[in-house]
Amino acid sequence: MARAKQAVIIGGGLAGLSAACYMARAGYRTILLEKNISVGGRAQFGEDAGYKFNLGPSWYVMPDIYEDFFNDFGQKPEDHYTLTRLSPAYRSFTSSSSSDALEIERMAELLDSIKPGDGLGFKRLINRSKIIYSKFKLSLLNEIWKGRRDLLKPSVISALLSMPRGSSSSRTSKLISSKEGRALVDSTSSIFGVPSNVLPAAYSFLPYSIFEQGVWYPGGGFSSVVSGFKSLAQQLGVEIYEGYQVEKVEVQYGSASAVIIKDIGQRIPADIIISASSYSTTESSLETSKQSYSSGYWSSRTYSPSSIIVSLGLNTRVPNILHHNTFTDTETDSELDIKSTTWPYKIGSFHVSCPSLTDPTLAPGGGEVLTITIPVPAGLRVEEDSENSLVSQAFARISDVIGFNINDHITTKHVVSSSYFRDMFNSPAGSAYGVALTNKQKFYKRPRAASKKLKNLFYAGQDTNPGPGAPFAVVSGKLAAYSALGKTPQAKS
Ligand SMILES: Cc1cc2nc3c(=O)[nH]c(=O)nc-3n(C[C@H](O)[C@H](O)[C@H](O)COP(=O)(O)OP(=O)(O)OC[C@H]3O[C@@H](n4cnc5c(N)ncnc54)[C@H](O)[C@@H]3O)c2cc1C
Repeated sequence: MARAKQAVIIGGGLAGLSAACYMARAGYRTILLEKNISVGGRAQFGEDAGYKFNLGPSWYVMPDIYEDFFNDFGQKPEDHYTLTRLSPAYRSFTSSSSSDALEIERMAELLDSIKPGDGLGFKRLINRSKIIYSKFKLSLLNEIWKGRRDLLKPSVISALLSMPRGSSSSRTSKLISSKEGRALVDSTSSIFGVPSNVLPAAYSFLPYSIFEQGVWYPGGGFSSVVSGFKSLAQQLGVEIYEGYQVEKVEVQYGSASAVIIKDIGQRIPADIIISASSYSTTESSLETSKQSYSSGYWSSRTYSPSSIIVSLGLNTRVPNILHHNTFTDTETDSELDIKSTTWPYKIGSFHVSCPSLTDPTLAPGGGEVLTITIPVPAGLRVEEDSENSLVSQAFARISDVIGFNINDHITTKHVVSSSYFRDMFNSPAGSAYGVALTNKQKFYKRPRAASKKLKNLFYAGQDTNPGPGAPFAVVSGKLAAYSALGKTPQAKS
């Protein structure tokens, strides 16, 4: 009897788990190797003194993408985790005020009360975002980009011609004139890893997703989403090995023949290899002539910011905040310069989540879990003083606006930053979200799913298309698997 063909997936983030499911469904014996002690990748969790912390994604947006994924296997997200819609979706703190992201009619009234006319502008923004999303989903989301020539495909041409140009924030400012209104709408672009003045307008569909599709909380947090993906993969027969770091991809007779495991030197043969880890790290394990991109290519990429993540366990409830809270500096109106090579001395925009408000099981004894995420440019030299200063400024800012001194109630505190992303995920420049999603690094200009040199080596994950963000990672796994299988993914409306 002929042996089943073997697919090896490197990396067990959402992209790797997704790719593994499709390869297993196609009949491949599928082996997934994850370097850390558990799969999930960026969707990591920590626990201390009974407090459960979220170190990665917390905004469950674009729920249709998760539905489409589970549907491909005859299942639903709810077969694996519960989903609760957050209402209001979040609170936006600006330098002078705070407003809640309410449902569309109430939001329009709120924005009109700040600046007459902005309510109508907001409704237009939602409608336009919805059109962009449906065109994006129909013609661009599932595109397996091979290069510039893909721009000539009729479906791609017509979608791109109808897409807005510029950045997400340039679109918002045409329709909403008050600073508070713009901050409220634009402050969530960090879900895709970049500020709104960098996020391409072709990706400016978050207003639709957030206000119409909703922001959801998966019961237990994103760890439940990871468990759902893992459980589906195992049902499909994927063999998952945690604590197995791939050291290199072996090449024989012009194809990727096996992976070699670090420290133990074990060789695992493969007919197909999908790297869903760090693109540049896998590439650098190959000899130069087999690499799709040169080292110069990688060093000239713009990387999305790193993050300082402060996880706090507090001994009491925290007043005046919601599950998700965005803080924006509307006084200077300055967005983070993601290419900066120096530490920001003044804190700009950041995010605070308090998931224990929705899920009290995350914090013991009526306490609270608070996660503060502060973006900083990737690749900065470690400077503890600069890092501490930003953290202190964030504490002061939060305490000031909510009228409650968080310093007085801290039971546990953990801080991670760029070295966490470098060490845990092999992330270049300690970036939190990999190759940044910018106008110069979108669509065919992102690292491609299929190796240019080895016909059976493929890539998935946030460095590839569609880009950073948990739902996109899921799609990238499908694109890499379909590319490997020579199939074309069908768009779903
Ligand atoms: C702080 C933060 C907040 C975020 N917030 C949100 C949010 O609210 N909503 C949202 O949608 N998205 C959010 N994101 C983005 C989202 O989490 C990521 O884009 C997505 O999870 C990336 O998935 P991935 O599978 O591509 O990569 P990863 O999750 O990084 O997975 C790659 C895996 O490969 C493994 N690996 C690396 N090298 C090797 C090797 N040599 N051998 C074996 N395994 C290896 C790594 O350990 C890792 O598990 C956030 C990201 C961060 C960092």
